[in-house]
Parts: sequence; structure tokens; C-alpha cells
Amino acid sequence: FDMFVLAFLERLFRPTFKKDDFVLGKKLGEGAFGVVYKVSLADKKPNSKKEGDLVLKKATEYGAVEIWMNERVRRACANSCADFVYGFLEGSSKKGGEYWLVWRFEGEATLSDLMQSKEFPYNVETMILGEVQNLPKGLARENQIIQTIMRQILFALDGLHSTGIVHRDIKPQNIIFSEGSRTFKIIDLGAAADLRVGINYIPKEFLLDPRYAAPEQYIMSTQTPSAPSAPVATALSPVLWQMNLPDRFDIYSAGLIFLQMAFPSLRTDSALIQFNRQLKRCDYDLVAWRNTVEPRASPDIRKGFELLDLDNGIGWELLTSMVRYKARQRISAKAALAHPYFDSEGLLALSFVQ
Ligand code: ADP
Ligand code: MG
Repeated sequence: FDMFVLAFLERLFRPTFKKDDFVLGKKLGEGAFGVVYKVSLADKKPNSKKEGDLVLKKATEYGAVEIWMNERVRRACANSCADFVYGFLEGSSKKGGEYWLVWRFEGEATLSDLMQSKEFPYNVETMILGEVQNLPKGLARENQIIQTIMRQILFALDGLHSTGIVHRDIKPQNIIFSEGSRTFKIIDLGAAADLRVGINYIPKEFLLDPRYAAPEQYIMSTQTPSAPSAPVATALSPVLWQMNLPDRFDIYSAGLIFLQMAFPSLRTDSALIQFNRQLKRCDYDLVAWRNTVEPRASPDIRKGFELLDLDNGIGWELLTSMVRYKARQRISAKAALAHPYFDSEGLLALSFVQ
């Protein structure tokens, strides 16, 4: 069998769904391009017991791309993202039909929800490990938990990037804690781009969340030719990928999440927006930013630097390799996973148990 036949058979034997199969539950989210619900299956479906709770997104314009991305992820890097079940067009596309996307319900909490808690990162510790560590509360223990979360995020990103997908909307709200695998997974591929086949090749800048977006507005340089047809893109894009390193856009966003985990006072939207302004004033040089804020830093900010300075500043080194103005100077997800920050023991072994 070739890949195409296999993909076709897999699709054929997977359960299919239609509108009436779903019983809507709680609304989980509402964006400009769709509404997301927790759903269960109506009883008449024979295998409904097995499926458990599901998540349904009713999407408008970008639903087709999101289905495409999810299908690709489930074949190429299934562990990176929430488990995709099915996607279809409900109603006709001409009459304003909606794309319905269905995933397994991974869990109650996104990283954003968990970071809101005063207990963070301790509230995540037992979720990841199943038990608390035999360490006193303090920077070293917090650092180990944050390190584990960062490793899981980078692992998921490496999967996407190795597949040729750039997410473009990496933020705590789009990282879900999967209770089944006890790991963080990426969700919301609505703004993603697949550069190997040219899907959603022209970046929709307006989809990008300015709080977490890297300074480059265009993921591919504006000089690259506009959306090539699929076969051309397949031949071209590995080169374009090398030239433009579009994956580094996600790395910048992941770096800002790392920053927010280290500095509790930067976890609110307003503080992050203010940080972005300060960093821009420092020409996106984190070292320069540190020099301006550290002398008059609050105890809370000082604690963040202390955490990143543990083990000879290896955390700070990783952070500054991720949050850089020039995309090509940012570390890749794969290289970040091999960074010495992740060498220290602790949660290392456990975080790979999936
Ligand atoms: P959007 O941001 O476009 O509204 P998302 O795909 O990010 O759509 O989903 C919205 C919210 O729904 C998420 O922030 C999360 O709380 C919840 N959610 C999405 N997918 C899942 C899933 N597979 N399991 C559990 N919750 C989910
Ligand atoms: Mg989202």
C-alpha cells in the first residue's frame, strides 16, 4: 500500500458523524471564527459509550484548513496535538455552511487556566507526576515543574515543525492538559500553515495574537512568491523553510510562555502587553531589558531571575535563545530539547512516560 491508500482506508473505517449525533454541553470557547462546545454522543450511536466526552468546534471561514491540518497531524505527529476524531462540512458551503470539527475531550484545563492559579506551578506538579516531589517548596522545585512543562511544549512543537507545520498561535490558551497522557498538548490549528504543501501559505496576519506574536509580521519574507500551487510548493518549500525558518515564530511565542511561567507578575494580559512594549524599546534584546528592570525590580521579578539563574543561568540562556528579534538566531524546537537546561534530572524520566 502506498501512503495515499492507507490514509484513505484509515479514513474509511474511522467512525463518521453527522449533526444529530451530538448533544451539546458546556460552551468552552468562542472566537471570531467559531464556537467550541463540550459534547456527548446521542445514545442511538452504537459505539457511543466508547467515545467518552468530545469537543465540537463549529467553524466558519477557516474550518476547512483546520480540518486539513488536524488530519495531517493525526497521521504525522499524533502526540503533539489534541486527539482529532472527525471533521465535516455541515450544510452546503454555498449557503454559509459550517465546518464541524470533533476532538476527544482531553481535560478541563488549559495552561492558561493553570497559570491563573496562585498555586502555579505546584498545581501542575501532581497532574504531571501523579505525586508531589520529595523536595521542599522553593525555586528548585518550581524550576523542575516549569522545565517539565517547557519540555512537553517543545516536544509537541518539534513534532509539528518536523511535519512542516507552523502553528502561529502558540499561547497558554491553546495548550491543553491531557488528563489521559498526563502531558500538555497543542490545540487550535486554525491559524496554522503547512509550508510543505502550500496550505494556508499566505499568512493571515490578522489571525495572529499580538500578545504572543514574534516581531516579524510576515512569517515568510514578503519577497517570497505568493501562494504557489500545491505541486510547486511541495518542490519549493523545503528550501523556503530553510531560508525563512518560519518555525521560529512559534519558538518566540513559546519563549514568552517560559517567561510568564518564570515571572508570576508577567502572567496577566496587561503585564505581558507592557513587557512587550518594554522589550520593543530595548530592540528586543532581553539582556538589555534585564539591565533596565533588574536594578529596581520587585521581589517577584527578582525571583524570576533567580529561578532562571539556577544551574549557572542555564534557564536564562535557553530563554534568551528563544526570544530574539531575528528568527534565524532563535533556537529550533529540536535544538531546544537538547539544551542543557533539560539535562538536570528530576522530572526527566517521568515526563516521557506517555
Ligand atoms: P478558539 O480559540 O478558536 O475558540 P480552540 O480550539 O482554542 O478554539 O478551543 C477553545 C477552547 O476549548 C480551548 O481554550 C479549550 O479550553 C477548549 N478545548 C479545545 N479543544 C479541546 C480538547 N480537545 N479537549 C478539551 N478542551 C478543549
Ligand atoms: Mg484557541
